[in-house]
Amino acid sequence: MTVSTDAREVLVVDDDPVVLELLRGQLLSAGYQPLTASGGPQAVEILTRREPRIVVTDWIMPEMDGLELCRWIRTHFDGRFVYVVMLTVRSEKARLMEAFEAGVDDFLSKPFHEGELLSRIRAGARMVRIYDEEARNAAKLRRLNEQLLKANVDLRRMASTDELTGLLNRRQVLVLLEQLWATTRRYDRPFACAIADIDHFKRLNDLHGHPAGDEVLRQIGALLSGSVRQADCVGRLGGEEFLVLLPDQTAEGALAWAERFRELVEALRVSVEDGWVSVTISLGIAERTAEMTCPEDLLKAADRSLYAAKRRGRNRTEVAVAP
Ligand code: GH3
Ligand code: MG
Ligand code: MG
Repeated sequence: MTVSTDAREVLVVDDDPVVLELLRGQLLSAGYQPLTASGGPQAVEILTRREPRIVVTDWIMPEMDGLELCRWIRTHFDGRFVYVVMLTVRSEKARLMEAFEAGVDDFLSKPFHEGELLSRIRAGARMVRIYDEEARNAAKLRRLNEQLLKANVDLRRMASTDELTGLLNRRQVLVLLEQLWATTRRYDRPFACAIADIDHFKRLNDLHGHPAGDEVLRQIGALLSGSVRQADCVGRLGGEEFLVLLPDQTAEGALAWAERFRELVEALRVSVEDGWVSVTISLGIAERTAEMTCPEDLLKAADRSLYAAKRRGRNRTEVAVAP
């Protein structure tokens, strides 16, 4: 579809061939590109094909009159502005309100002289330009808004994720620990957490280099987030230490999950520059007990279990027992 943006194309509609020819001639000599239609249906056909931005139409026509044509334009070109000038004779003056309601922008009474026709067309062209300019500005503003929104989302994501693993960062996972602590307590639901720490990770870095260590961290991070339920949260506490929040989970359920995950890690082979490496992981689990008063108590209990797992030989899971 051709869309005329300079409003040079003007569609004139009249069932009287004499008037039509007169209009065509005047527009042509003023530098416009007139399109002519001898009635409403033909005008509709041209409008769907070419979409001129200015329409000059007779009012009384057989089949489809000027008002119907104008209503058609308003319903079919929602969002694209078309300037409609209606040709009137004296007897139609009383129905001007009706015409305005149909969406007519301006009137030209017959008989008209050339100067009047052209100044009304010029006014229409000005309106079309203003409208297009506004539409462009609005689109620009919309694009700018979208960019801002995206930047905000990116910023928020960056502020809450760990760059290396893509997991939640320490700050964010601790915020979620507090939130889950509060909601599970309000609804009297169990709440467990696990701290996982890679065994002898320093040695792996020393033997295979820091980039190899980074790759292991990334793959364990991915394994970790793939192993939990939708409602669980996984974050990197720092270094080679991860925190897993397991709402609605008892110590027993958490232990079953932890052992599955530990075995997955044990089976993992990570390709590095000089071949492949494998690691093991130790986990400490704790479930909230009646004696605990704050989220830190739960975290400390999990940390004590982790320490016990390390002391008892690593590559194992220990569960905190209620004091
Ligand atoms: P343990 O079994 O007792 O946990 O021994 P470990 O060697 O895993 O523990 P330690 O705390 O002594 O060492 C952790 C190492 O993790 C030291 C540090 O260089 C390394 N590390 C911490 N953050 C990163 C990281 O982002 N990338 C890499 N490659 N290494 C890291
Ligand atoms: Mg470690
Ligand atoms: Mg550590």
